[in-house]
Order: sequence, then C-alpha cells, then structure tokens
Amino acid sequence: MSINLTVAKFGGTSVANYQAMLRCANIIKSDTSNRLVVVSASAGVTNHLVRLSQKNVPAQEQLTIIANIKDIQLNITKHLDNEQNLIDDIGLLLEELTAYASAQSLNHSTRIADSILSFGEQMSSRLFAQVLKSVGLNGEYFDVRQVMKTNSLYGKAVVDIEQLKSNAQAFLQPKLEGQIIVTQGFIGQDEHEYTTTLGRGGSDYSAALLAEALDAKNLSIWTDVVGIFTTDPRITDQARAIKEISFGEAAEMATFGAKILHPATLIPAMRQNIPVFVGSSKEPEKGGTRIQKNVETSPTYRSISLRREQTLVTVKSPAMLHASGFLAKVFTVLAKHDLSVDLITTSEISVALTFDNPVGSTQALITQAVVEELEQLCEVSVEHGLSLVAVIGNQIHATQGVSSNIFEKVSEFNVRMICHGASSHNLCFLVPEEDANKVVEKLHDALFA
Ligand code: ADP
Ligand code: ASP
Ligand code: MG
Repeated sequence: MSINLTVAKFGGTSVANYQAMLRCANIIKSDTSNRLVVVSASAGVTNHLVRLSQKNVPAQEQLTIIANIKDIQLNITKHLDNEQNLIDDIGLLLEELTAYASAQSLNHSTRIADSILSFGEQMSSRLFAQVLKSVGLNGEYFDVRQVMKTNSLYGKAVVDIEQLKSNAQAFLQPKLEGQIIVTQGFIGQDEHEYTTTLGRGGSDYSAALLAEALDAKNLSIWTDVVGIFTTDPRITDQARAIKEISFGEAAEMATFGAKILHPATLIPAMRQNIPVFVGSSKEPEKGGTRIQKNVETSPTYRSISLRREQTLVTVKSPAMLHASGFLAKVFTVLAKHDLSVDLITTSEISVALTFDNPVGSTQALITQAVVEELEQLCEVSVEHGLSLVAVIGNQIHATQGVSSNIFEKVSEFNVRMICHGASSHNLCFLVPEEDANKVVEKLHDALFA
C-alpha cells in the first residue's frame, strides 16, 4: 500500500547556489508529504568532475578544477549558520577527491572515475540538509550508497532493484518518520563497496527508483523549466508546457532525447503507478506537468524530441539477398562489443543501423575493431554528425496522412533514415546535425501552431 510520501528531486540548477537551494527548501516546507529529497550536484560541478576523471589531466589543471569546485560550494556555506563545520566537511571531501585525482593520473580506471564523479552529489546533499535546517526543517543527510546497490559496470551501473527495496525499507523508511532525509541522486555502490554512477542525468532515475522502493505516492522532479514542453524550449520560443501527459508518451520523449527526464526515469514510476510531477523550482507557483497512467486527451501529435550525435552504420552485402543468418552474424559482432542498436531499417542487400552516443562520452562508439570485424562479413560505412528527430504522439502508426504531413514540412532537408510503423507513439528520422534545430522549429510550427 502506498504511503503518503512524496520523493522530491532537485536538479543541478535548482541547487546551483544558496538562493536556489533556499527556494527548494521552501518548496519542501510547503507540503508535509515531501520527506525524501534527492539532489543532483550543484550546476557545473559534475562537468568539472568529468574533466578531472579523464586520462592525463595535468597536475596544475587538477588543482584549478578542484579550486573551482571549492568556490561553488563555499559560496553556499557562507550563508549558513554553522559555516565552519560545513567548510570542514567540504574540505575533507575535497582532500579525498584530490587523492582520487592523483591516483587517476597514475593509473587511470573507470572505477576511480566513478568515485571522482560522485563528489558533486556528496557535497550538494550535505549542504542542502543544512539549508533545510536554516528554514526550520529537520533535514538529515543520508548516504544513498547504503541502499542503492549496483553491479560494477562503472559509468552506467545497473541497480539491483530487489536489494534496493529491502535496504530502503530497512534503513531508510524508519528515518522518514519525523525528519526530512536528503540524499544523493546519480550514485550507488557495488558489491566491493566501490562507488558507482548510473550515467549522466541519472538523478531523475535514482529518485524514481527510491519512490518505487518506498512505495511513495508521488514523485516530483523540480528543474529549471515549468514542466515538459512540446519541444525543448531552448530550440524554439514557440514551445509550450504540457499540463498532462501519459507515462507512455513521456517515456518515449525521454528515450528520444528530451533532456528534461533521464530516459529510464519512468520505468519504476510505471511499474508502481506513481504519478510524476515536473515543475520549475524557480517558479513553483506556475504549476507544471503531470505524468500519469490515464490522461484526458491523446492527441496524434504531442511533442518533438531531438537527440544529437547519432552514428549511422550501413552494412551492405549481395550475399544477403535471399540468404539467412546474415543479420544474426552482424548482431553477434555488435553484441560482442557491447553495442546496443537503436533504430534499424533494411533493404534487400543493405541494413542501416543507428547508435546513440552517450552524453559526454569521449570514446569513439564504433571502434576500428568493430569496423574490421564487420568488414569480414560485408561492406561497412560509418557516418557521424547526425541528429534524430522524433515526433511523439498517439496512434501515429495508424493515422492517415501522418508521414506525408510531416515530410512535406521538411522537404527542403536531407532526411537520411526514417522509422515509421514499429511504434504507435513515434515516427523518427535522421537529419544532418547542422539542420536539426531548423527541422524541429519548422515541424513544431506546422504541428503545434
Ligand atoms: P536538471 O539539471 O534539473 O536535471 P536538465 O538540464 O537535465 O535539468 O533538464 C532540463 C532541460 O531540459 C531544460 O532546461 C530544457 O532545455 C531541456 N528540455 C529538453 N527537452 C525538453 C522538453 N520537451 N520540455 C522541457 N524541457 C526540455
Ligand atoms: N550530476 C549528474 C550529472 O550532471 C547527475 C544529474 O544531474 O542527474 O549528470
Ligand atoms: Mg537532468
């Protein structure tokens, strides 16, 4: 049975500085069901940590990065009552971080990279607990690694949901009586007690997993926009906030690149039927978007998502004509290299496949080794610099005129690959990166004006 608990997640801009944190503390104060708070790192900190976690960062640059992080965090402590204790706490964490950074320059590993990446959330959660105290709430820090157990796939660790559930009920639930727990998004711990991370933007997912584990009534995602829009408001000022959207549609938007939600966020919420609210911590009075199972309207066109940095691989072989087993061989090579295919289209003798480049990844996704192995089977071409545009809605596969309606609007652009028909919720296609914003703007004007 669900308890009267709201899990509230605050993203990087919401905890960027003292004033932003104070606004969030007042949001928590305004509703007594807000008893578990999940925070991201203060804006900018994870990007600094990503640089610090890379190979061969010169010692001087390491020092500059750590000094920048210290500045961001100490600009918050100076507004708080027990400033000296907090400065000491942050100082200890920064010493630990410095030691990891040195270890990383001697012997680079993805394990140490994850430890480095975790410091942003470790610091912001300590500070936010204190900001809650400053507005008269009983805010307590909790280390999420006690409950968020994962495998050892550093950088994209997979959470053990059963273990999370029993741990959360044993160690977290009792603490929610009479105090407000502040914990970290994005991070976890493997069986060797090494810190892991769930992938960039993963705090939304952490919050959803915790809401599921604790059988919460609501999940609130507080961010820097007043809800989910018909497209990224940074692309066009014509984008408008959506009041209500179904789990399926919002999940599809997130999967196809709407940065507002980490792609996995809605999976736990859907499993447990927990409604999700998305709103702006800057303007909470403006309301936001409610994501839930049943909604009043199911329009053909709901929104447009854009995912950049896509890679298109085309494999071509006359041997494929009327032959069996060719695709299986191609997929065996891809699986061996741990590559997950996103979209696929086929003709008689060629297959086009797309791959998503994880945000912030520095590695070439399709390595020379992959190309060489595929070349033993067929001709291979690899194209970069493409963006995936996805039109999200309802019954898109079965509504007359959808594709002509869409492609007529973007006829002046070079559309590289089209996927239509497999999903009732989307139609998507690839365009050159440099045209992507214009395509979205144009389509948005046509479908949502
Ligand atoms: P947070 O740090 O709070 O997690 P993010 O930067 O990850 O925030 O996500 C919020 C951003 O997502 C917005 O500022 C907006 O530019 C972007 N965004 C992309 N697509 C959408 C959309 N469809 N609706 C609203 N925001 C979107
Ligand atoms: N701080 C992490 C990031 O910037 C996780 C998050 O913000 O969701 O990716
Ligand atoms: Mg985010």
